[in-house]
Parts: sequence; C-alpha cells; structure tokens
Amino acid sequence: MSISIHPSVDRGVSKGAPGFARGTLRCLCASNPVQVKVDSQVAFNHACGCTKCWKPAGALFSVVGVVPRDKLAVVANGHKLKIVDEKAPIQRYACSECGAHLFGRIENKDHAFYGLDFIHTELSDDAGWEGPGFAAFVSSIIESGTPPSKLTEVRQTLRERGLEPYDCLSPPLMDLLAAQSAKLKGTYREA
Ligand SMILES: [Zn+2]
Ligand SMILES: [Zn+2]
Repeated sequence: MSISIHPSVDRGVSKGAPGFARGTLRCLCASNPVQVKVDSQVAFNHACGCTKCWKPAGALFSVVGVVPRDKLAVVANGHKLKIVDEKAPIQRYACSECGAHLFGRIENKDHAFYGLDFIHTELSDDAGWEGPGFAAFVSSIIESGTPPSKLTEVRQTLRERGLEPYDCLSPPLMDLLAAQSAKLKGTYREA
C-alpha cells in the first residue's frame, strides 16, 4: 500500500496552466463559506510537513504556496476568520467554523517573506494552479505522530511523485532567508 501524502499529490501533481492568474479559495463550510479572491498564480507551492500548516483530514502533509499579499482579498464571510496564533511569524487566518486556513500573513516587515501570503490552492475549484514542486520540513511529520521508521518510505514516495524532500525549506528559499538575515546584519554582498 502506498503512502498517502496529500490528495493533490496522491492524484498526481498538476502543472499550472499557462496564463492562469485568478482563482477563488473557499473554506469547507457547506453554507456561507469564507471566500478569498486571488489575482495571481501561486509561487513556491510545496508539500509541507510542519505542524502549523493546515492539512486536510488524513493527509501527512499540507500543500502550501505564496502569492503577493496585494493580490489577495477576502470577498465573502470574512467575519468568520480568526487568527490561529497571533504570536506566530505567520498569522494564519482560519475559518472559525470549519477550521480551514484561508491564508497566512507575515506582518514583520523585516521577514524575508514579507509581502507574500501563504495559501492552500486545494480550497479553490479553479483549474490551473501550479502544483507542489518540492517537499519541505519532511522530518517534522514525526512531530505529528508519524513513526520515524516510516520516513524512508515517505521520502521515497515523495521522490516518486517528483517532489524532492527537504527537512527545512528548499535551497532557493533557504537562500532567501539567509540573504535577508545577512542584510539585517550588514554582511550581505551582491557578488
Ligand atoms: Zn468555514
Ligand atoms: Zn508548514
């Protein structure tokens, strides 16, 4: 039996449609769902094994990517949103009724990812979103109850699905974080 990573990975990772630039996210409430309009394709979409990102029931990983925050707008039932953890670097806005996370936002202007909102494209019925391209924080699934002995099989499954497994973020994103740290420390050099 193969391991279930996340529905959008298990079904085969979708490739983004050329020119795709608009979609609507909806929470899981059967009536009066929170709706969020996104006027952008998603970037850096990936499977995430951390314990903070929202996952559908039964999934080992979340699938999460970023869009510019000025391209995202809550268009319906925003009163149902509440911040999961005000003190977390990423403030995740979840529906208080169904629990789905509609978007995550960074308010710290010094953060490397400031200006980007985190979204889960599976909450959108629109076809054309770029699928996940790698897997981050893979070892962290142990913290949510996966036995360490399973990790070899999980990493193998991720590779079979075309998702290179990393135990932090991918190298380009780690480089962005380190570059921002260097800028704040005054040690950044362009070339
Ligand atoms: Zn809801
Ligand atoms: Zn995560």
